[in-house]
Amino acid sequence: MGDEMKYKLLIIIAALILLLISGCDRAEQGSYNRYTESIFDTFDTLVQVVIYTESEEQFRSYFNTIHDRLKELHRLYDIYNSYEGINNVKTINDNAGIRPVEVEQEIIDLIIFAREWSDKTGGRVNIALGPVLEIWHYYRQEALFDPENAQLPPIEDLLEANMYTDLDRVLVDEENMTVFLPEREMRLDVGAVAKGYALQLVIDELIGEGLESAIFSAGGNIRTVGSPKDGERDRWGIGVRDPDASVMAGTDDLLDVIYLENGSVDTSGDYQRYYIVDGELAHHIIDPDTLMPANYYRAVTVVANGSGPADFMSTALFLLPYEESLALVESLNDFEALWVMPDGEIRTTEGMEQMLRSHGATSTPQ
Ligand code: ADP
Ligand code: MG
Repeated sequence: MGDEMKYKLLIIIAALILLLISGCDRAEQGSYNRYTESIFDTFDTLVQVVIYTESEEQFRSYFNTIHDRLKELHRLYDIYNSYEGINNVKTINDNAGIRPVEVEQEIIDLIIFAREWSDKTGGRVNIALGPVLEIWHYYRQEALFDPENAQLPPIEDLLEANMYTDLDRVLVDEENMTVFLPEREMRLDVGAVAKGYALQLVIDELIGEGLESAIFSAGGNIRTVGSPKDGERDRWGIGVRDPDASVMAGTDDLLDVIYLENGSVDTSGDYQRYYIVDGELAHHIIDPDTLMPANYYRAVTVVANGSGPADFMSTALFLLPYEESLALVESLNDFEALWVMPDGEIRTTEGMEQMLRSHGATSTPQ
């Protein structure tokens, strides 16, 4: 065989190997299946899980981890219920003014996370606002049973409660793993952050176990991993709900669709939990200055890298007037936002605009 002949043969062999490899690739992509399942018993919300994996067993294993961990974290972060043999956030609250409570690392981490982000964002999201939020919770529950006589909490009560909401007075002892609320009236309420933070913990664990392609939805909180391995799309499409749409909203009731690969989308809105007093909406996100529901927006949707920061930021941005809200997003990296103003007008950051269907984004970018 001449040298030239050998060279040609080599090229043919190399080409064959390449074909084989890319053939394998395609076969692999094709061998992913879509599995889906819902969880009804964590974080007082429906959690939906979609995972692309190669086998049902693999999916089952991921799903069981998710379900078990979310149940665990739900118990730890619960402020309304106690559980046998567990010290949770309610245990910390029950021991306010009495003694430090020994807790799991996940609780310490959540409090430190919330404090760090509170410092970074001007302090309007405050997990020590419990005494005020507890009053709102009580009036909301009353309204549920007797809507005709629904009332707003008296401002004197709210002002009194607000004397015990200093986040700096929440004493975390990282060495001894304890948390202490030094005054009897103090209470933690982790409702603005716990769900997103828990989701983030669980998903990070799954990624460590090899999870490649998935989308999770917990209430208004969406987290995606990788891109959808369905052989068609490169990005996930996430609907932004119209605040006026009914609970049973279909796809027609979407304001827009956000397309993204890896990331988190979270919405805080006035329609998620509320009651009506004299025809006015009294919703669940409370302005720490007025101690009343914040009314700058109908809803704020945030895109971020992690679902912990996304959950925190959607509430934080909801609690600031537009100029400040916008300035806050722009001062931090890695966030995009969409605001639905009281009259329905939609405002967005530039980065958000590029992800929106209304601005030409699709699930298969060129
Ligand atoms: P959702 O939980 O419905 O997704 P958010 O993440 O915006 O909505 O959190 C709202 C919850 O946060 C409220 O139900 C309440 O428990 C808590 N909360 C309300 N106002 C504040 C505030 N100013 N700071 C900290 N937590 C708050
Ligand atoms: Mg939130």
